[in-house]
Amino acid sequence: MNARIAIIGAGIAGLSAGYKLTKTGYEPVIFEKEAFVGGRMSSINLDGFIIDKAAYSIPATHKNLRRFCKEMGMKRSLVPTSGTYSTFSAGKEYKIKIGSSKQFFKSELFSTKSKKEIIKLLLYARSLGKSLNLAKPRKKSFKLEEQSAAEYLFNNYDKQILEYLAYPLFCEMYLGTPENNSKLAFLAALKTLHRLKIFALEKGMGSLPERMARTLDIRLQTPVVEISRTAPQGPFEIKTGGENPEKHLFDAVVFAVPSPIVPEIYADLSGALKEHFLATLYAPSIITALAVDRQYPDTSLINSLLRKDCRVLGNIIFDHHKGPHRVPEGKGLVTAILCEQASRKLFHEPNDVVINEVLKEMDFLFPGFSGRLIFPRVYRWKYGAVQLRSGSIYKQDSARKALKDELSDLYFAGDGLYWSALEISFNTGIQAAKQIIKKMGKRKRSKS
Ligand SMILES: Cc1cc2nc3c(=O)[nH]c(=O)nc-3n(C[C@H](O)[C@H](O)[C@H](O)COP(=O)(O)OP(=O)(O)OC[C@H]3O[C@@H](n4cnc5c(N)ncnc54)[C@H](O)[C@@H]3O)c2cc1C
Repeated sequence: MNARIAIIGAGIAGLSAGYKLTKTGYEPVIFEKEAFVGGRMSSINLDGFIIDKAAYSIPATHKNLRRFCKEMGMKRSLVPTSGTYSTFSAGKEYKIKIGSSKQFFKSELFSTKSKKEIIKLLLYARSLGKSLNLAKPRKKSFKLEEQSAAEYLFNNYDKQILEYLAYPLFCEMYLGTPENNSKLAFLAALKTLHRLKIFALEKGMGSLPERMARTLDIRLQTPVVEISRTAPQGPFEIKTGGENPEKHLFDAVVFAVPSPIVPEIYADLSGALKEHFLATLYAPSIITALAVDRQYPDTSLINSLLRKDCRVLGNIIFDHHKGPHRVPEGKGLVTAILCEQASRKLFHEPNDVVINEVLKEMDFLFPGFSGRLIFPRVYRWKYGAVQLRSGSIYKQDSARKALKDELSDLYFAGDGLYWSALEISFNTGIQAAKQIIKKMGKRKRSKS
């Protein structure tokens, strides 16, 4: 009995599933629609500028992923970032050390009233204990997600908390807004802030997926266009598109793509599950990489912009903080991440329109910036990050249970059943592989 296993998507979720299966003796085939691996964890080196195309950091809380980097011999490449965190308000910069609650409370950005309210919120978040575990929600968690973060904060707290704390937090951590995410998501994120430490991969975030890909059978530029079962308990037929369309038979399939893609390629999904996958809300995201001919040494790693000042930019990242060899000597690299509203509005606009809008705001923040531009690049992610709207943790929990009960030989990895973070996609990929190994055993198998 040879088990033929297909994995759809070579992002970090698909790669971790493939890596674990390969290590156990299986020979899975990974289908990837793009010409590169890593998906939202990919990077590119352009004239010595190392550009992260989406994910740019590994927080200390991503313990499994950090351990895995070490297992892959990348301990030295995983560097703590040197940066601070800044919020800009009316062109003025308020800087603190990332994760330093002491500096946070000294910051002049917040009024004394707001600071007292933030302490109250922190104590409240802490008192909620395990109810804030979004991956293992309880009854109380569902109660906490009945309201949006915006509604909760607007009705109970100083306006500063919504605009100066919650908005940047959602922009940075969920690529979204307090309106589109729940009170539960806000409190869960807030709880981790005081001990946040951030790591980066010195050679680019894509260096890990590229390393993993070396030992895997990956078919690049091979999009999966349709999956169907040949008989009730029979194998799956996978049709691929691209230059040489083909059909393949597999015994098990791991979907490691954003949720809304699943029903697009697998039509036989049951009603409730199909609805869940389709209804998962992802914020689209546009990021622009701006190479410039000067350094900005005194800047922070992460710079949050407030929506009262900037309608296009959400966060800007100064890449030299991610390691000494990220940017050529004497030059600078900025990753400007558009806020959710601008990403949505500009998603189908041509690159020059996007760049124009971004540079206008960069010039407001850093006068003369656009005059120093060497080259700009634009990256677009239709499925940027999962939005945890009111009620979505409850729906995710039900969908995870339904998946376990209803489907055999189909596995799901990636952020769609949880939230968007590298650790989640990595963990769910490993989890999918473990489920297959548990079902099919540890014996060595052969390829399709
Ligand atoms: C701008 C941005 C910044 C972010 N920053 C961070 C960060 O700093 N830290 C963090 O932890 N997380 C961050 N995230 C979130 C993180 O990047 C994602 O949650 C994670 O990378 C998702 O990995 P994945 O493997 O689940 O999905 P993906 O990376 O999306 O991989 C899915 C893969 O499937 C492929 N695919 C899609 N359809 C098909 C098909 N039909 N056939 C074959 N292949 C297909 C895609 O091309 C892709 O390669 C960020 C996300 C964005 C957009």
